[in-house]
Amino acid sequence: MAESEVVWDLSEIFLSPTDPCVQRAMEEVTVLAENFASKYRGKIGTLRAEGLAKCLQEYEGYLARLRDITLFAELSFSANMTLPETQALHDKAMKLETKLGKLLAFFELELGRLVYDKPELLADPALANYKHFLERLRRRVPHQLSETEEKLIIDKDQFGICAWEEFQAKWLNTRMFEVTVEGEKKLLPFGAAYGLFSHPDRATRESAYKAVFSLVGKDGEVFASAFRNICNDWLTVCEWRKYSSPMEASLIENDTDQQTIENLLKTVEENVGIYQRYLRLKAKLMGLPKLGCHDIIAPLPNAPDMKFTFEQAKDLVIRAYESFDEEYAYPVKDIFRRRHIDATPRYGKQHGAFCAGWYNGKTAYVLQSFNGRLNDLYTLAHELGHATHDYYCFRSQTILNTRIPLVIAETASIFGELLLTDLLLKETKTDMEKKVILCRILDGAGRVIFSVTARAWFEQSIYEAIKRGEYLNHEAICRHWVKARDKAYGDTVEWFNEMLSEWSITPHYYMANFRFYNYPYVYAQLFVYALYQKYLQEGKAFVPKMKQMLSAGASLPPAEIAKIAGYDITAGNFWQIGIRQYEYFLKQLEKITK
Ligand SMILES: [Zn+2]
Repeated sequence: MAESEVVWDLSEIFLSPTDPCVQRAMEEVTVLAENFASKYRGKIGTLRAEGLAKCLQEYEGYLARLRDITLFAELSFSANMTLPETQALHDKAMKLETKLGKLLAFFELELGRLVYDKPELLADPALANYKHFLERLRRRVPHQLSETEEKLIIDKDQFGICAWEEFQAKWLNTRMFEVTVEGEKKLLPFGAAYGLFSHPDRATRESAYKAVFSLVGKDGEVFASAFRNICNDWLTVCEWRKYSSPMEASLIENDTDQQTIENLLKTVEENVGIYQRYLRLKAKLMGLPKLGCHDIIAPLPNAPDMKFTFEQAKDLVIRAYESFDEEYAYPVKDIFRRRHIDATPRYGKQHGAFCAGWYNGKTAYVLQSFNGRLNDLYTLAHELGHATHDYYCFRSQTILNTRIPLVIAETASIFGELLLTDLLLKETKTDMEKKVILCRILDGAGRVIFSVTARAWFEQSIYEAIKRGEYLNHEAICRHWVKARDKAYGDTVEWFNEMLSEWSITPHYYMANFRFYNYPYVYAQLFVYALYQKYLQEGKAFVPKMKQMLSAGASLPPAEIAKIAGYDITAGNFWQIGIRQYEYFLKQLEKITK
């Protein structure tokens, strides 16, 4: 290992994938699960509050021990996916998790039933720590079917709906796309062609977009069949499960409600003008009369090449977090100090970036492939935000209260990106560098807030069309897509005709039982932008509130977490505050562009 390599040290969990302690831990956790099952199966319904609290604590002991093993296996594997010993351990750990998961599947079902039948348990002081966990479980019960029906759904999904997901991924991954890269014709697989969507050379981007979407469009009717059937299937599932709308399952999953999300989507709709103002400005910055669809996320031409060594990036991120509060930066520094970060790109390492929390160790591990670009610096600040969230949450909550819904899970990570942005804007010397940073923020957040909302509008319109009895062939689906898309973009973008099929490559649309994946991202982004506005107003007085919010984990509903910051997230005008932060960045860019 070269000295400059940033490789994580997992020895706090286990010494190596072949460490005999791993095998012993697997045997131990199996005994824990078996004992738990024989003690409680079929008996949860008879428990009183004190007995139930004890049972939940035992269950948590099992979960935390299992996490040691699965985490170690996942981390070892993701850093070196091609090594036989990491593959073998990963396989073994996943099989163990599935086996024990099946053995204990009765637990949450029986528990849900119990709190549904005896809601008074929720108010019992003995169960105070688990109150919200039990509330969330209870909310699922009216939509559960009988054991046989649930098993049948799993079986029919396995070779039905789940097969569409496999089909879409296989289709994309078995095609080659002919792209002209900087004047040279190349035949590329999907991942490589997709990667060129943000290439600095405009002609290369155009070629990549056209190559991908013309081929996708040729099989448009095939994708339409898949999508139509998935959406129809979902409406049938909703009837069986008595969901009041196609969105309800995701509302339960995200611990939120219909009215809050309607307010969110409406606020975005009312503010598309701000995004469009940015897109017009970006066209001007790019020297174009109007943006092409291939320019929306493209870098600015002649942008300076902002490069960072890992040491520089580390220093910037630590200082960004310290600018908020000295103690708040502790978890970030701790991750570096304990070498819980794997940043050097290498063959066989998992693509992308993640942060994985270790509950028993009250810490986290971060993986990324750091290449020294501005994006890598932001990824580092983002993932270390997740580590900070874990740090506060793990110290205050038991493990069942660490299952944070997506709408809240991005709180510290997006906040960390904002702290970094502030620091970078302060320290950059030229207007051109400031423009690069502001465009990066406005591109990224703009896409999440407005373009992802368009995807939610599209999905809504598809279910409404089916309910009206409309037949959704490829042309009809594309029509719905364009209508939702144009609601966000207006006339600010020139679209290639091939982009009608843009919806076809989104994997989420093909995933079983995963409807409305989209709006939680919008929620998270605007929620954190609103928090940042609060921080700008209150300064240091906001620091303890932030820590308290992160420490709450999943022990409180998101609306209660917002109250800690002094916000009523259910108010109709709440989301406008987050939009203000977006506009604040836009105004800064406008100021230096004139
Ligand atoms: Zn994240």
